[in-house]
Amino acid sequence: MKIAVLKERRAGETRVAATPETVKKFVGGGHSVSIEKGAGDTASIPDSAFEAAGATMGTAATVLKDADAIFAVRAPDDATIAKLPRGALLVAQMEPHGNTALAKACAAAGVEALAMEFVPRITRAQAMDALSSQSNLAGYRAVIEAAHIFGKAFPMMMTAAGTIAPAKVFVMGAGVAGLQAIATARRLGAMVSATDVRPAAKEQVASLGAKFIAVEDEEFKAAETAGGYAKEMSAEYRAKQAELVAAHIAKQDVVVTTALIPGRPAPKLVTKAMVEAMKPGSVIIDLAASMGGNCEVGKPDEITVHNGVSVAGFSNLPARLASDASSLYAKNLANLLPLLVAEDGSKAPHREDEVIAAMTLTRDGQIVHESLK
Ligand code: NAD
Repeated sequence: MKIAVLKERRAGETRVAATPETVKKFVGGGHSVSIEKGAGDTASIPDSAFEAAGATMGTAATVLKDADAIFAVRAPDDATIAKLPRGALLVAQMEPHGNTALAKACAAAGVEALAMEFVPRITRAQAMDALSSQSNLAGYRAVIEAAHIFGKAFPMMMTAAGTIAPAKVFVMGAGVAGLQAIATARRLGAMVSATDVRPAAKEQVASLGAKFIAVEDEEFKAAETAGGYAKEMSAEYRAKQAELVAAHIAKQDVVVTTALIPGRPAPKLVTKAMVEAMKPGSVIIDLAASMGGNCEVGKPDEITVHNGVSVAGFSNLPARLASDASSLYAKNLANLLPLLVAEDGSKAPHREDEVIAAMTLTRDGQIVHESLK
């Protein structure tokens, strides 16, 4: 199979879908890998490292010529999709929820588009789960960004000149990103608390040494879907949650929000009034910025200062750790590869496999994913 990797073209995207390690693995398995020149530059992977691993470097046009599979971090733009070889596999983070425009473009181009976001949350697929690999890094980086913006230290420090109190960090949403944010803030010495609507999160938060804060009513006990994601909560629950959270937030130095519901706008958890109740100098990192934000204040990719409180809406934190994020994402793709080929290495997606079935958006010029029909 000829595997093609293009330079990512989205503004602010620094990651690349292959690394010398995965290229070596593909070439060792009998595949050929063609990579657009400069694709790894922003992830600190020079063309020479890809070449040394066995890849051929070229222009976008030569890379795409006769490609059987295109591996990408993000969905290419419509003009690029239209140029992909008909019948080729396109595997990327497609932002697929409700994205019928993209599905139509892929169907029109005749590509078999697979969305990494739709890898099911089953044990067998964990090594292919890009949402997890990238969210984990985003959670870490969120705390690093917060520490950078915050004008105080995180750990308690006892010095001859006096004592510095530890920072109070509150993490909203204790999924993959939130749990890593908790662990990172704890390592930096902060006093950490966290909230979530899924009961399973309670024990995980406690095991990381953070305090769990949530409205634990009947709705909370049933808030997790079979897929492990949160359900959208009722207006009544959200009102109770807001009341509990309001008093807590006023005492925090740093709030990291990570609450998401797949395919839905992010729940608004931090109101303008809550921001105004915080001390000047406090910091809010809104990881849900690209899904509308968990905080009423702030904009994607900007740091908004409101009443002395900085609200940072990073929409692509993994891109701020381009090297590690590329490495883990490329491994997710390498772990998916056996489901895309036959035993002799030729292109043959295992369409009956539940992982591939769940990921496939388009095939043979048609939209096949139920959610996009
Ligand atoms: P996510 O990114 O969809 O959401 C982040 C978190 O926000 C979730 O924990 C969610 O419950 C929470 N949230 C949603 N609405 C909220 C609200 N109103 N208030 C507070 N919190 C709210 O979730 P995720 O990080 O992708 O992970 C969700 C779960 O799936 C985790 O328990 C994770 O461990 C699990 N998971 C399982 C597998 C697997 O088995 N293969 C892989 C990855 C993750």
